[in-house]
Amino acid sequence: MAGHQVRDYPFWRDQAPLRSLGEDGPLPGKADVVVVGAGYSGLSVALHLARAGRDVVVIDQDQPGFHASTQNFGAVGRTIRHKFTAVAKEVGLPTALRIFQEAQAWLDYTTDFIEREKIDCNFSRAGRIYGAHTPEAYENAARDLETHQKHMPVDTVMIPRAEQHKAICSDAFFGVQYLRDVGQLHPGRFHSGLLDRALEAGVRVFGKCRADGFEHTRDGHVVTTPRGAIGAKELVLCTNAVTGTHHPLLRHFHRRIIPIHSWTVVTEPVDEAVLRAAMPNGAMQIDTTLLYTGIRSVDPDRRILLTARHLFDHPSPGSAAQACLAQATERVPALKGVRADYCWYGIFALTFDWLPHVGTDAKTGTHYQIGMVGTGVPLCGYLGWKLANRILGKPEGETVFADRPFPTRPFYNGNPRWILPYMREYYRWRDNGAWRRALAQHGRQPAPPPAA
Ligand SMILES: Cc1cc2nc3c(=O)[nH]c(=O)nc-3n(C[C@H](O)[C@H](O)[C@H](O)COP(=O)(O)OP(=O)(O)OC[C@H]3O[C@@H](n4cnc5c(N)ncnc54)[C@H](O)[C@@H]3O)c2cc1C
Repeated sequence: MAGHQVRDYPFWRDQAPLRSLGEDGPLPGKADVVVVGAGYSGLSVALHLARAGRDVVVIDQDQPGFHASTQNFGAVGRTIRHKFTAVAKEVGLPTALRIFQEAQAWLDYTTDFIEREKIDCNFSRAGRIYGAHTPEAYENAARDLETHQKHMPVDTVMIPRAEQHKAICSDAFFGVQYLRDVGQLHPGRFHSGLLDRALEAGVRVFGKCRADGFEHTRDGHVVTTPRGAIGAKELVLCTNAVTGTHHPLLRHFHRRIIPIHSWTVVTEPVDEAVLRAAMPNGAMQIDTTLLYTGIRSVDPDRRILLTARHLFDHPSPGSAAQACLAQATERVPALKGVRADYCWYGIFALTFDWLPHVGTDAKTGTHYQIGMVGTGVPLCGYLGWKLANRILGKPEGETVFADRPFPTRPFYNGNPRWILPYMREYYRWRDNGAWRRALAQHGRQPAPPPAA
């Protein structure tokens, strides 16, 4: 690694550079709708409202897409972070079914959208493998899948340990779950394509323009920014993990988000043989620990993208890259000797109920789409379409995620940084301990994953 330069920004941006839009001059005095945030969420709401004839202005404090929407891993899934059985127990079977049917719907919506809108973003249905870190993790996943499939079709299969080598490169796992219909894409190109469609629809986008203040009247809202105030009938907040604390309205949402930082590495181009050894059937791979390690291919560049070291601080991207590669190589021996070309970190927005939230704040009438729980690549577009339809008063706006209670915790101020290292160590101790014990019991070669 010595002497090898690691670039400290997302790989995606070299192929889809961020754009400077509307950075000079004052804002227009009014619009029908003001959207705050020009990531996937804000652009999606804006696009559908503009196509319905609304005059829409989007403002962003940075360049459009600067945050999670061009920092992510590019997985296009149908992830609900709880198991089907647990959700059914918590909210009842009918609501659980609606939640999981909508998760399938956001995958279908996004794949259709990419095709219909001709977004050039290297989308492929590569599939996803979850490697079970213990026999219990495999059994639990299998039981949950059986219940899930009793109630709705899901294109997922379990592959037992004896056959897992067809799908996964390591024998550190106790069988795998294989989601066959999910995909992956180039997040930068996806954002850029969405931005193009929004601009073509007449959306006006103003970068480097922070929303500082909000006033709400019976006739609408006024948003103040350093470049002037703008009035609008409708106000939509799509600020997700970047939601600030400089105004009570923002603080309200900030307290409902748990910001989780996560490192991502893109390697140098590798030989076809390394790619095949790392991902035998081409599917993205993740494990069932909470602080998982994930890898996927970056096509057609023959690079490997990996994520690891969630919640860790590192003094530099170079040292983070080394630590991520070391962790990933424990799981994926084929990565040995491969070097990192890019390493960056991003923040995703978990919520206390681990579900996404969209709706209208009863006190101020502000619409919001916040808390995308690390699933925003397919989810933001779908929910943005739903939210636009709600604003337009159309029945297509109905979604199980709308106006659900958006929980916070007493004394929680939205900045959990002091507690996250303890949580991280707890989860590492729990998951790695269980993994090590399982490997020892089942006599696996080579060395088990490290506990520290
Ligand atoms: C490292 C990482 C990996 C991920 N991997 C995946 C994945 O593989 N698959 C997946 O589905 N999801 C993934 N996600 C999550 C996904 O990227 C996000 O859910 C999604 O990008 C959120 O989009 P958004 O538009 O809601 O928010 P963002 O893209 O964060 O956009 C919010 C915007 O609001 C702007 N803003 C905030 N406050 C203000 C203000 N006061 N005034 C003006 N503008 C403001 C910000 O500048 C920002 O541009 C990942 C996230 C991270 C960080």
